[in-house]
Amino acid sequence: MGSAWALDWVRRSADVIAEHRVELITLDREIGDGDHGENMDRGFQAILPKLDDVAADATPGDVFKLVATTLISTVGGAAGPLYGTAYLRGSGAIAGAEALDGAAVAAFLTAARDGIVARGKAEPGDKTMIDAWTPAVDAADAAAAAGASPAEVLAAAADAAAAGSDATIPLVAHKGRASYLGERSAGHRDPGAQSTAYLLRAAAEAAAD
Ligand code: ADP
Ligand code: MG
Ligand code: MG
Repeated sequence: MGSAWALDWVRRSADVIAEHRVELITLDREIGDGDHGENMDRGFQAILPKLDDVAADATPGDVFKLVATTLISTVGGAAGPLYGTAYLRGSGAIAGAEALDGAAVAAFLTAARDGIVARGKAEPGDKTMIDAWTPAVDAADAAAAAGASPAEVLAAAADAAAAGSDATIPLVAHKGRASYLGERSAGHRDPGAQSTAYLLRAAAEAAAD
């Protein structure tokens, strides 16, 4: 799995975020400031035209570095720097590799999650995107250790991220804007956990096709 997959993932990411833009706005309106869908859509739409200039010999890591720098410069709020750091650290973990096996995919996801934690200091259970990323990383690691293909590793990660997003609903937020609501944040899905679930699903679908 190489840069064709990486490019396909980015394009599918832009599609899925555009498709769910209003839903992500609505989720963020309930426990934040209502801009998550707009922020993410602006960022991924800004990446699309740049994909045409990606060199033919670009590695997946090169593609993700472009995603990182574009998200950091175009997405405001918490999510831009957090996702930007995720793609940047993930890119570093697979730097130079032209093809990714299951273990490399798991290493990419682990580094991405670790970057978000380094930047945002959220722990599992704080009701953030980390509650989607951490089960995704755990599932990816387990699948890779069992010898799964890259597509199988991503499918396991996507399933776990979706369950992790579901599991944010009853939680009380301890990080980000939603934490200002205290107990009233319970009963709502975290928007960043849901965008993570969509992005990892797009990665798995790009790998499966
Ligand atoms: P903002 O809150 O600045 O408006 P967004 O609405 O785009 O930014 O993103 C909100 C999402 O960012 C939250 O739903 C949560 O998943 C994530 N988030 C916020 N703070 C943190 C943090 N410290 N660590 C990890 N994720 C966080
Ligand atoms: Mg917001
Ligand atoms: Mg905001």
